Amino acid sequence: MRYAIMMKLQFLGAARNVTGSRHLLQANGAKLLVDCGLYQERQFRARNWEPFTVDPGSIDAVLLTHAHLDHCGLLPKLVKDGFRGKIYCTAATAEIAQIILLDSAKIQAEDARYKAKRHKKERRKGRFPVRPLYTVADAEACFPHFSSVRYKQPIQIGKGIEVSFHDAGHVLGSSIIKVKANANGQQRTILFSGDIGRPRRPIVHDPALIAEADYILVESTYGDRVHQGPTDTKKMIADVINSTKEAGGNIIVPSFALERAQELLYYINELLLADAIPHLKVFLDSPMAARITKVFQKHRELFDEDMTEFVEHNESPFKFPGLNMVGTSDQSKALNHMKGTIMVIAGSGMCTGGRVKHHLVNNIANPRNTIMFVGYQAVGTLGRRIVDGEKEVRILGQKYRIKARVVRINGFSAHADRDELFKWLGALERPPRKVFVVHGESESAQRFGDYINEKTGWPVVVPAYQDEIVLD
Ligand SMILES: [Zn+2]
Repeated sequence: MRYAIMMKLQFLGAARNVTGSRHLLQANGAKLLVDCGLYQERQFRARNWEPFTVDPGSIDAVLLTHAHLDHCGLLPKLVKDGFRGKIYCTAATAEIAQIILLDSAKIQAEDARYKAKRHKKERRKGRFPVRPLYTVADAEACFPHFSSVRYKQPIQIGKGIEVSFHDAGHVLGSSIIKVKANANGQQRTILFSGDIGRPRRPIVHDPALIAEADYILVESTYGDRVHQGPTDTKKMIADVINSTKEAGGNIIVPSFALERAQELLYYINELLLADAIPHLKVFLDSPMAARITKVFQKHRELFDEDMTEFVEHNESPFKFPGLNMVGTSDQSKALNHMKGTIMVIAGSGMCTGGRVKHHLVNNIANPRNTIMFVGYQAVGTLGRRIVDGEKEVRILGQKYRIKARVVRINGFSAHADRDELFKWLGALERPPRKVFVVHGESESAQRFGDYINEKTGWPVVVPAYQDEIVLD
């Protein structure tokens, strides 16, 4: 009799919540961890400190979908706790993840120092240890484990496991991962969607369509929503720039360092070339965004057709007259004294930290200025309070009246909505054996699961944290 090895899937994160993506696949006698992300929702953050459910030393390889912190942010801890294998991902993902992990280690060290000081002052203990989850040295120690793969070129891992990466169109280098392995002697294909991008986004390709899968893990960040109809993002940005210039004010743009900052630079460049906006000084005040932009410039092979054409006719999509990369914090502070209209693009994207807070302090109380939001603002963040129209906010310990104009630019989402996700699933040529809905808040995941099941009759599961399911 042939020895049959069971195939099992365990959900260790992003199960009925959005962040902390971690899925453990056991097949052909090997253990593969797909993503090793950080929990970012306040109510789940304690899980970052718990020991891994499975001994990291027993994991054969990590497959990494993309460089967002909620997918890669716990890799340094995994290596520190004994992981010895390779971390497979695209070259762009490896390069961006390293920038993001170093930044994460630095922020954790700062936070730990600040918390220790506060707890001492208040004579109390917090919910988490005051030490950082990992240090800069821990982050650096995981870099040699990265091993880059190309889209659509299968690699072999262990005995008879075939893995291939496909463009997810979410951020530069992002992947959908296809794994072929055996379950009780039968070959099965398991598809990990990672985060799925929207069609017709600038810079990156549309998500790759996959025709074949027995099991699918599909994200559901916007699984219960449909994005607003087509919005002319570029025209909205032009209107903000023109009207603020006319008013003689500044434009402050809180932005994420990965993808959003590069999309903004690309749009502004196009508007300048089309003579749709006047020349103005634009400051990218985020050393991390500047480093990531360099990775974009290096990986032109990942650009979509429009972007490739743009690059053929122009030097770089991320360079134009008037653009300055701000280095030190002194240079950042000097922006307060600039004359004439300037645009400052700075992190963090939801105004929870970083240099954007100082720019808000200096600009939010002046009605001539505009605060331009280009990204999602989570409940409870400073960005959300400003967008929701509060009259007064507290920034860096001081209260400020919001008198600047607040504008929200739609159309920037990097996640497919319900209809786009469903259309992506529709590329399958035969019904899958099961669909697992992950990476969405409980309600969003459940509703998307019900939607798929109603429309197709496919069996759908919305797994809970640590659920283990045998695949047959
Ligand atoms: Zn993502």
